[in-house]
Amino acid sequence: MSVDGGYGDTGDWEGRWSHVKTFLERSGPFTHPDFEPSTELLQFLLETCKVLIIGAGGLGCELLKDLALTGFRQIDIIDMDTIDVSNLNRQFLFRSKDVGRPKAEVAADFINSRIPGCNVVPHFKKIQDFSDTFYRQFHIVVCGLDSIIARRWINGMLISLLNFEESTLDPSSIIPLIDGGTEGFKGNSRVILPGMTACIECTLELYPPQINFPMCTIASMPRLPEHCIEYARILQWPKENPFGEGIALDGDDPEHIQWVFQKSLERAAQFNITGITYRLTQGDAYIPLNNYLVFNDVDGLYTYTFEAERKENCPACSQVPQELQFSPSAKLQEIIDYLTQSASLQMKSPAITATLDGKNKTLYLQTVASIEERTRPNLSKTLKELGLANGQELAVADITTPQTVLFKLQFTS
Ligand SMILES: [Zn+2]
Repeated sequence: MSVDGGYGDTGDWEGRWSHVKTFLERSGPFTHPDFEPSTELLQFLLETCKVLIIGAGGLGCELLKDLALTGFRQIDIIDMDTIDVSNLNRQFLFRSKDVGRPKAEVAADFINSRIPGCNVVPHFKKIQDFSDTFYRQFHIVVCGLDSIIARRWINGMLISLLNFEESTLDPSSIIPLIDGGTEGFKGNSRVILPGMTACIECTLELYPPQINFPMCTIASMPRLPEHCIEYARILQWPKENPFGEGIALDGDDPEHIQWVFQKSLERAAQFNITGITYRLTQGDAYIPLNNYLVFNDVDGLYTYTFEAERKENCPACSQVPQELQFSPSAKLQEIIDYLTQSASLQMKSPAITATLDGKNKTLYLQTVASIEERTRPNLSKTLKELGLANGQELAVADITTPQTVLFKLQFTS
């Protein structure tokens, strides 16, 4: 290759990559002890490295721009959303004329036309629409997501791509996952080496459980400020359609939040409830994980970094079968409750199957109406009545993971 900025052989102008070369072709006081400076690294970056970005929103726009400007050229980007007016203040790859178009496509077009040599391939799809073959082609996956379920799913997918030879992890099968999140003036990022360092499920307890309030409380007996906000959001919004028939509440739209805020205040006044604030109304779209690097500049500036530890029996990355301790007289419903409410599992609509008398039997499945109806009576049966024995394996499928999770039933007396 040529020495001076790659000019000539890649069609790049002189000095185009000098800033990247500063990092790649010399070591410094902060470089990793194993890092070997080389001129081949830039070549790898420009020609070989394939990056997948998940999410083309606030964080995704920044990620795509930064990666493209630092020389990554083979970039795929996935996003299932279309552009909304309220995105334009921060998702800077989008313009008013783009409203309604898929985020991934507009972002890719923008970068491809602005940064010569860059080849961004957009996917206006869900991450669940792709198979392991698709994910296997990337050297690295970078996430700017706003959903915990999506994070858990991609985490599970990358773990499923690991190869083990006699229980020794083949390092070449590791695809690093860099996960970031933002919320107002707060942010975080973490590096996950699947199979080696703490994964999303290892630290799942750090996500607070989702709180749902009973509808009767919201409708007739509010006691907390949250009940009033839920009343405005769930009951008043669809009834009054303040921004037009069928316009959904957009948590990013300040006018929408202001409306809910005002209605919540009115409701709270009727029941002598205090404590409604704009911030509470806005809610936390998601709360940053409290490990790795956290960043906060609400009051001054604060960052903190620490290392999350792997969990020995993590359901996603430990390869240790999970134990379920229940009495033989426990009902199947109790297992479902445990799977959904346990802080370390937090499943959403678990489907349970077991092998009984050599046959695969669905004990309960919620997501298909006809099967739900057929298996519902099982919920009130005891484990003994269902024919489950001590040590029985239960396979559980859920939207939080691409793989079924194996549990082993351990009877308690
Ligand atoms: Zn894990």
